[in-house]
Amino acid sequence: MIEKNLVQQAVSKAYADNKALTGGENASYIPYLASVPSDLFGVAVVTTGGEIFSAGDVKFEFAIESISKVFTMALAMEQIGTDAFRKKIGADPTGEAFNSVIALELHGDRPLSPLVNAGAIASTSLVAAKDKEDRYQQILGIQSAFAGRALTMSTEVNDSEQTTNFHNRAMAWLMQGAGAMYSEPMDAVEVYTRQCSTLITATDLAAMGATLASGGVNPLTGKRVVKAANVGPILAEMTMEGLYTASGDWAYTVGLPGKSGVGGGILAVVPGQMAIAAFSPPLDPVGNSVKAQAAVASVANTLGLSLFSRP
Ligand code: GLN
Repeated sequence: MIEKNLVQQAVSKAYADNKALTGGENASYIPYLASVPSDLFGVAVVTTGGEIFSAGDVKFEFAIESISKVFTMALAMEQIGTDAFRKKIGADPTGEAFNSVIALELHGDRPLSPLVNAGAIASTSLVAAKDKEDRYQQILGIQSAFAGRALTMSTEVNDSEQTTNFHNRAMAWLMQGAGAMYSEPMDAVEVYTRQCSTLITATDLAAMGATLASGGVNPLTGKRVVKAANVGPILAEMTMEGLYTASGDWAYTVGLPGKSGVGGGILAVVPGQMAIAAFSPPLDPVGNSVKAQAAVASVANTLGLSLFSRP
């Protein structure tokens, strides 16, 4: 295990080195996200031993957005098993934007990955539930179990997205036509949109990742959240599509399973060791936070954490 003060030094360095980094813009297609102060910036690490290291704005609550896709996937895998999940949703990169309709059309209106919008909406529809409220509560429940505290939804974010998510609704209907939806399509989009509106801090995000790093047991609560056997498939999905069309660059330069959200969060998981999280709203054209990517990469590189560069 890496010495504690080295981890804090790496986190402080990632913050200091990238604090003045410019570039990118807040997401604007979701009106609320455009209004979040662009200069917020926080970096956090939670280890599998439950230690927390941080720098900057790690108490600010931001919208989880697409990072929620990881936890809904985890819930669906718990319920139906990883093989059935992969057959129904997929495990390959689309090579297109996170909300691409073309990617769907190229593949018979079926998603390739649970980490793009189409596959995430299908994954949400796959969660076994008696109705949409039950489906949402189960998803919020597993998000909270991953974070180690009761998370809540921002009604402001949710209202902002529910009234503008026409593109996602269109994709759900395309998938419905192909038999690739597993609940009423508009209910699934509504629940998916709610799951994206959960508020988390950078420290929550690191704790969520640390639960994956420690084989499915939350290191802060000691509670098992998902089966150990499901963690590998979850991390595989993150490696292939976690940062969309930048996933290959991320694997090359950082070498860790990652996930981004248009709220500005970035997560990377170091199996058996820790998770690194950062938050900063301005995004690059792919939809990944400019500063948060740089900060997470900095921690990973300072500590030599790439999975592909181990001696
Ligand atoms: N809720 C957002 C959407 O559906 C999430 C996208 C993202 O974070 N990449 O577009």
